[in-house]
Amino acid sequence: MNTQKIPVAILGATGSVGQRFLELLSNHPWFEVVELAASEKSAGKKYSEATNWIMQTPLPDKFANMIVKRCEPNLNARIVFSGLDASVAGEIETAFAEAGYYVISNARNHRFDEDVPLMIPEVNSDHLDLLKTQKYKGGIVTNPNCSTIGLALALKPLYDYFGIEAVNVVTMQAVSGAGYPGLPSLDIIDNVIPFISGEEKKMETEPLKIFGKLDSNKIEFADIKISAQCNRVGVLDGHTECVQVKLKTKTTVEEIIKVWKEFKSVPQELKLPSAPQNPIIYFSEEKYPQPKIHRNIEKGMATSIGRLRECPIFDFKFVILSHNTIRGAAGGTILIAELMKAKGYIQ
Ligand code: NAP
Repeated sequence: MNTQKIPVAILGATGSVGQRFLELLSNHPWFEVVELAASEKSAGKKYSEATNWIMQTPLPDKFANMIVKRCEPNLNARIVFSGLDASVAGEIETAFAEAGYYVISNARNHRFDEDVPLMIPEVNSDHLDLLKTQKYKGGIVTNPNCSTIGLALALKPLYDYFGIEAVNVVTMQAVSGAGYPGLPSLDIIDNVIPFISGEEKKMETEPLKIFGKLDSNKIEFADIKISAQCNRVGVLDGHTECVQVKLKTKTTVEEIIKVWKEFKSVPQELKLPSAPQNPIIYFSEEKYPQPKIHRNIEKGMATSIGRLRECPIFDFKFVILSHNTIRGAAGGTILIAELMKAKGYIQ
């Protein structure tokens, strides 16, 4: 192990998000994965035997030969990334935080705890201060839902420059968002499923906390009306969203494209290793963005936007695309950890 790096562990290492963590962390300049943990059925096995590796890059030998541990707070690494199933993440993450570990999680369980940041580093890095109010010996920080992240990144410059009154969003979400093994192929090939359990509520509520104002150690939720309809489609990776917005002040298509193209934030200023150079990429071609072509842009960490035009019902409408297991999960979580290191919360 490179002793210069911070040792980290992955909880839920065998799942779809867990594998993405390993792929993204295999050569990370600051973090070294030293332990992998998953359920009872995987514990005690070699990682290569416990998981069905579905990433497009080969499984690195250093991970293949690791023995999977139980998700119990007796790991050596003090920083843990969680890709745990929501049915178990709540209690396990609390146990780790109480025992002094810093948990950075993809699961929904702690997202609305009053003292837990729901964090997108480009949008609300100041919310990290909530960590100082936590009762844990360690701490918990959460990553929002994968569809929320792409949407909130696109909305951030609009919120800052023009104010946002209302948002209507219809999603077309990739199958990898359902975890592994996910949906039966006979259900999703040649099909669109117009329901994803719990997803619409997450998209309608999470941005209110993310865009909320941190005041006296509490988040005052933003006042935006959001309506979401979520669909599962036969795409492997990358969530597409058709968005309509009603803004508080008048503006133009040109002005909006300008603020999107110029958008940079704290991760870019701090030059965090996983920060995209441009968190928002705007396409002027009418047929873009498309998941197959653009999901890996900026190493999967940017939100691609296209088709901005005036809307006869709301003010403007556009299409966004964001990689659900990179920006929307493991990559977004790693960026949070990098921000925590840069701000001195972890070392
Ligand atoms: P997944 O493929 O189903 O993986 C779930 C992981 O949880 C596996 O490693 C599994 O280990 C582990 N696990 C299950 N039961 C456990 C238990 N009782 N004790 C310990 N570990 C247990 O799910 P995923 O898609 O990676 O998602 C992981 C989390 O990230 C979920 O909370 C999900 O909502 C969230 N998320 C997913 C995405 C996405 O695009 N996929 C995006 C954002 C957030 P075993 O293999 O040993 O069962």
